Formats: sequence, C-alpha cells, structure tokens
Amino acid sequence: LGWWDRVSPASKDPITGVTEAFLADTNPHKINLGVGAYRDDEGKPVVLQCVRNAEAKIAGCDFMESNATAVGSKLVEESVKLAYGKDANVVKEGTLAGLQALSGTGACRLFAEFQRRFHPESPIYFPDPTWPNHPNIWRDAQVPVRTFQYYHPVSKGLNFAALMDDIKNAPDASFFLLHPCAHNPTGVDPTAEQWREISYQFKVKSHFPFFDVAYQGFASGDLDMDAQAIRIFLEDGHLIGCAQSFAKNMGLYGHRVGCLSVLCADAKQAVAVKSQLQQIARAMYSNPPIHGLLLVSTILSDPETKALWVKEVKVMANRIQQMRSTLRESLEKLASPLNWEHITKQVGMFCFSGLTADQVDRLVREFHIYLTRDGRMSMAGVTTSNVSYLANAIHEVTR
Ligand code: PLP
Repeated sequence: LGWWDRVSPASKDPITGVTEAFLADTNPHKINLGVGAYRDDEGKPVVLQCVRNAEAKIAGCDFMESNATAVGSKLVEESVKLAYGKDANVVKEGTLAGLQALSGTGACRLFAEFQRRFHPESPIYFPDPTWPNHPNIWRDAQVPVRTFQYYHPVSKGLNFAALMDDIKNAPDASFFLLHPCAHNPTGVDPTAEQWREISYQFKVKSHFPFFDVAYQGFASGDLDMDAQAIRIFLEDGHLIGCAQSFAKNMGLYGHRVGCLSVLCADAKQAVAVKSQLQQIARAMYSNPPIHGLLLVSTILSDPETKALWVKEVKVMANRIQQMRSTLRESLEKLASPLNWEHITKQVGMFCFSGLTADQVDRLVREFHIYLTRDGRMSMAGVTTSNVSYLANAIHEVTR
C-alpha cells in the first residue's frame, strides 16, 4: 500500500531558506540578516555570562531527582514578575494561571489550543504583517485567523488610525495577538499613549489581548520599559494572556524555555484554567525538558545573576541601537536620495527596510547579503566591520 504516495514536500519556511543559502555561500563578505538571533560585534553567537554562571550553579544538580513541577512553578513565578511587574497585585493574588512552555512558539500553541477548546467560534486577529509562524500556529489549532492593519508602508511606521478602525470593526469579544515591544518583522511599536487608546478600545469592544513577548529588553534595553503595554492593559483591568520566550533575551534558542500565563477573574478560575492547560500539554508532550527551565529560574531568582542578566540585555540592545545609527549615518554620507530615518526610529532586533523583493534579490546576487524578500533586516547581523559594506550595497541597489 502506498501510504504516503500523496505526500508532496511542504513549502519551505522563508527564514530557513535564507539561512541555507547563506551557509552555502563561500564569499568572504557574505552577511546574514535573515535569522533573528543575537550576534556580537564579531558576528558570533553569544553565551551570556549570566547563563554560564547559572550553569555553574546547577552543575552536579541531580536531574533524576529534580521535580519538574517544582522547577516549572519557580520559572512561572519569576516569569510573570517580568511581564506583569514584580510588585503587581496579580502576581501575589494567585489569579494568574501559568505554565512552563516550549519557548514562545510552544506558549502560543498551548494558548491557541486552549482558545479553541473554550471559544471555538472566536477568531484571532494578527497585526499585518506579523511573525509568519503566528498564522500557522493558530491555523493548526483550528482557530479562524484574521488580520488587523498595523504597518504603514509610506511612513514606515504605525498606521494607528487604521489599526483603531480594525479594532472597532472586529466582532465584539475577538482575540487579538499583540506584540508588546520590538514588533517582528517591522520594529514598529505603538507609543504609551497609543497603547492607552488601544486598551480603552479593547474594553469598549470586550476584546481579549494576547501578548506575545519574544523580545523583552530588545526595544529599549530596559525590561520594565519593554513591558509597558502589558502594564497599561493590566491597570485598565483587562484579563490578559501572555506568551513569553527566553530564546532571544537570554540567548537560549535551543533550550526552548518559555512561559504561558492567563490572567483570570479569581484564584478559583486560575486553578481551573491551569489544570486545563496542563491537560493539553500532557497529551502533547507532557513536560518541557528540565535543564533550560533550571537555567532560567536560577538566573531570575538569584539576585546577583539576575542583575548581571539585566546588564547583559542592555549591552545587546545598545549594540543593535548603535548599528542602527551607524547604518543610517553611512547611507546619509553616501548621499542616498532616500529617507533612512526609519532605521533609527524602528526598535528591537529588526529593521523593516522598505527594500523591494527585487532589491533584496540584487543584494543576495551581487553582494552576498541575505535577508527575507519582505526587506526585513535582522540588525543583529550588522557589525562595525560590515556596516559600511552593507550601506554601500543598499545604496547601490536603491539609487
Ligand atoms: N513570537 C515572535 C514574534 C517571534 O519573533 C518568535 C521567534 O522568532 C517567537 C514568538 C518564538 O520564538 P521561540 O519559540 O524561539 O521562543
């Protein structure tokens, strides 16, 4: 029997494709602006010192004896403080249903499944554009997916009026996925004042805000500042959901450490919600591996290691901001006729450059510079030694 005869190859993930092409290129000037992973000024991946210290602290720890549930609880306890604020009442009141998750993707998937079980008819709205895996995740969970307007291609900033219209025009009590900071792929975030207006309108419409926090610290360099959107919604009395990832801000990509939290009406509801989330996770993968959980909970709960992490996050964010300024200045020095203000106005890991697909193709073909065809550049791939080569290349393909 030809069991799998009807199976044809799945379409390639756009980012994986970029990485493969970059690796296959032997040109010494090649630059990878595809993947959203932090690199130092030498273009090398970084193991944070706080992670090394945590490794040393847990070395020799008896994993066979480790209680996954206890480690998970500690991780959740510390993660929610980061998102909602260490002194937030909700952290103390027991109204948060939280669960360790397989990084940000796993937290999203868990929530999507939970959403479908209890609100099978409700769609989820994603910003246009968004991280391309968002629609995949919710579609696989059988949730209807929609988009709301977000980015303005001419200003290369936020299309706030259109965003507000779409929030108003969505059916009452819809789910909305929001990037609280360092929006992927655009690097465009609402201001605090705009978040207040969004939060107000969510109240009017009884929408549910689901925050996907994949880059906390990367927008401003400050973890609390980057959580301001969540804190504003909290102040306004919303019930919220939150997916947190430690892949980027702790450089723990492969360890898959994350947290899903759902803010409930009271402690009793939180117990029920958590038990449902646990049941969903149990049937899919039981528990996440414990090593990464231990690393993150150790960093977050040891004051000295946490302070070091806070500093290291700032260093990473500052380096990226520095590269934004240098790239913009270099393009201006080349007398580029185009406006490059958005390079420094946008925040976080990415710059939505405005380069067309044809211009990107030329960057790849003629300059060995790799990025996705939507023009998204991972600023983490830019270094002191490649920034002028990059500026020249961008200037060549846009003049
Ligand atoms: N959400 C957004 C917006 C992202 O950009 C990413 C990663 O690129 C994720 C979630 C999930 O990342 P991970 O599953 O590696 O934590």
